Amino acid sequence: KVRTRFAPSPTGYMHVGNLRTALYTWLIARHAGGTFILRIEDTDQGRLVEGATDVIYRTMAECGLTHDEGPDVGGPVGPYIQSERRDLYQPYAHLLVEKGAAYYCFCEKAASEEDAGDFDRADDPCRDLSPEEARQRVEAGEPYVIRQRIPHEGTTTFHDVSFGDITVENKTLDDQVLLKRDGLPTYNFANVVDDHLMGITHVVRGSEYLSSAPKYNLLYEAFGWDIPTYVHCSPVMRDQHNKMSKRHGDPSYEDLKAQGYLTEAILNYVALLGWAPKGERSEQEIFSLSELVEAFDIAGISKSPAIFDIDKLTYFNATYLRAMAPEDFAKAAEPYIREAVKNPAIDVSAVAALLQARCEKLTEIPEKVDFFDQLPDYGVECFTNKKSKTNPEVSQAMLEAAIPALEGIGDWTADAVHDTLIALAEHLGVKNATLMWPVRIAAAGKLVTPGGAVEICHILGKDETLRRLRLGLD
Ligand code: GLU
Repeated sequence: KVRTRFAPSPTGYMHVGNLRTALYTWLIARHAGGTFILRIEDTDQGRLVEGATDVIYRTMAECGLTHDEGPDVGGPVGPYIQSERRDLYQPYAHLLVEKGAAYYCFCEKAASEEDAGDFDRADDPCRDLSPEEARQRVEAGEPYVIRQRIPHEGTTTFHDVSFGDITVENKTLDDQVLLKRDGLPTYNFANVVDDHLMGITHVVRGSEYLSSAPKYNLLYEAFGWDIPTYVHCSPVMRDQHNKMSKRHGDPSYEDLKAQGYLTEAILNYVALLGWAPKGERSEQEIFSLSELVEAFDIAGISKSPAIFDIDKLTYFNATYLRAMAPEDFAKAAEPYIREAVKNPAIDVSAVAALLQARCEKLTEIPEKVDFFDQLPDYGVECFTNKKSKTNPEVSQAMLEAAIPALEGIGDWTADAVHDTLIALAEHLGVKNATLMWPVRIAAAGKLVTPGGAVEICHILGKDETLRRLRLGLD
């Protein structure tokens, strides 16, 4: 039975690579009808950020990546927060000492060195202490750490689904600390023990952990535990040479949301950053979450790094915006419309209807619709347009004719505005555009608007339209 886990360290934000890991692990579980677990890896107390776990819960919920077991929902193998599991690791470290796969080390080490768990002292004198002597010193109360005893000879082969077999010389691996002086596990040790105790079958994570993986193998072998299937994912890159990084201003999930991207579009795009569908779906780009569940397979995960392309994400986003039901789009667009248009007389859903096919991100909306609130200062040159065969003089004549015609409308519907203007153009013997251009410019004060003269006048209402057209006359 498949059991996967997403094991974030609470950093305070969800970067794109993390979201991808969460998504892939969730998809593996859901595709197989298995169990998805959320585990918070917070043993690195120095990095704890206030409210950081909330970001994780919120993002997972928003993305629909629901977990079956986790700190908030419980489960049979909890607790699911590593800091609440602190006492559980010690016996396992001591067990490894008994098995000869680890040893007590009494050397003085800088605390930071110990925390990093990566100091390289293959020649540590404690490694060769007799078990009796070591035990005596422990019993005498001497402080110690427990370090993994890596063989000096031979090689270790580690298998990863996308990277294949990776063989390393054991002499290149360090005797990493498993249990620190304060009795707490190091990150790598807690990770292995927890994955085993939680019955994890598939581990998906960033390839920055690949180099520690052989040491994990040796731990699993020493315990006699089954090694889970490992899938390491290459980093998400900002360009050919650099990983995406928050420090360099690359967006996290929350940043993308704030930039106006839809959760569904982000998830869809992120799914394809390092995974490609096979077979009949190999050409498909747009995937709902349930389609992903159906199509996702570990074999489709690629080991080559993917470059995060914001334009591609924007294209996904526009596709999602266009596919929304009009009322859903209106609901999503409303706050952005209201940011620019405070006038309660302006009908939000009518404005939204103009925008749906014409915006790629919700955040573009305010500057596209601000004219509904305030007529911008525009110059007389806006009335010139070759294609519409109009210039300031022609425009004056058109507005002079349009004002009384529009004044005559009783019921101000879009159809009435349309029919009146079309009839007027015919009556004047001009192209429709020759009339529509100046009406739209006078009503909106902008060269580029979502929607044409008819829609804009309709939304503005009769009084405001006539007021603006009269202003256009001077
Ligand atoms: N806590 C690690 C991280 O946030 C995850 C490592 C793993 O999944 O094994 O990067």
